[in-house]
Amino acid sequence: MPKMPLADSGLHVDSLLAHGGGGHDAATGAVVPPIQTATTFVRDENYELVSATHLYSRDDNALYQKTEGLIAALEGGAESRLFASGMAAIAAITRLVRPGGTLLVQSGIYWGTTLFLRKLCARNNVALVEAGTSDLEVFLEEISVTRPDLVWLEVPSNPFLQVADIRSIAERCSQVGAVSCVDATAATPLILKPLALGADLVMHSATKVLNGHSDLLGGVVTSRDAGSEAWAFIKEERKLAGAVLGSFEAWLLLRSLRTLSLRVERMNENTRKLSTFLDAHPKVETVLYPGLVSHPQHELAKSMMTGGFGSLLSVQVNGGKEEALRVAGALDLFQRATSLGGTESLVEHRFTIEGANSAIPQNLLRLSVGIEHSDDQIADFDQALARL
Ligand SMILES: *Cc1c(COP(=O)(O)O)cnc(C)c1O
Repeated sequence: MPKMPLADSGLHVDSLLAHGGGGHDAATGAVVPPIQTATTFVRDENYELVSATHLYSRDDNALYQKTEGLIAALEGGAESRLFASGMAAIAAITRLVRPGGTLLVQSGIYWGTTLFLRKLCARNNVALVEAGTSDLEVFLEEISVTRPDLVWLEVPSNPFLQVADIRSIAERCSQVGAVSCVDATAATPLILKPLALGADLVMHSATKVLNGHSDLLGGVVTSRDAGSEAWAFIKEERKLAGAVLGSFEAWLLLRSLRTLSLRVERMNENTRKLSTFLDAHPKVETVLYPGLVSHPQHELAKSMMTGGFGSLLSVQVNGGKEEALRVAGALDLFQRATSLGGTESLVEHRFTIEGANSAIPQNLLRLSVGIEHSDDQIADFDQALARL
């Protein structure tokens, strides 16, 4: 991996991000790297590669290397790998578990992950155990009893905003030889650093806040230990199974990361204000957000998260499905769309998506809070809730 001049400089991450990882194009001095479209790279007359890190672009792409180096630095990890989507990253990690093995997954997390793991495990003769983390002792006991190969957490969880105790869970995992992985998509590496809390791996859907502009699919995995067996497997999966990011997407992602700290700062602050407003609103039953003192894991969240609590929150309005859909339908600024982490605020009625078989309350609206002016976001909810 090319040396990144800024990564070892002791600068704050905001400075690293603002420079897109630092460095400039050696040939032209350009401050922004070019999009690498070449798929193959020449050898010299002695059959040596002209560039030792460039052979074939399924693995060798200067933009990947630069972006991965920057994300690894943000996570406080050893190495990162980009994938074609968050799900492609999840697939590469969870294929670690061989037939006959056991995978323990936190229940009530991102529906796509749950659905994928149920199908993957059923097909491959992997025992899938789903367990909640709200009672830590019960979850720790589950690890000790089932001795899983991999434990999958999502912090904070989507859409319930549960905050698992990463420190205690990662410690128990290492005691039983389980690999621990945290999907920290909703937090971003600026707010939560699972590797520093003992997790082996951290992954993000880069589609969400990391890119932040709702215009690409991407995923990234970072390992605490560059030499672990699990990491060797994941790197090989990326290279051999080939779920790689397109070069243009890598370029867009690196460009977006330049503004990550600004976006996260604004989104944190907007979400803090909106959650406080909604929490005090008479037409609102409950607000699920770890930044609220009333959240059952607020103290735990405070001990793990820095600078804020993220831009994802769920709100349960008074009433049921009809009332929730009436509020969603009355919103003007919040767009009715799935996904999260973009500059524009989004609202989603998860029950409509997941259906009656899921545990989603019918009156729940999941919000992704964007970077608009906070007063406009609050005014939008004020007028929409007035319809109830
Ligand atoms: C969106 C999301 C994913 C899946 O990522 P894609 O990029 O859509 O494949 C995984 N985990 C969480 C928490 C997500 O929000």
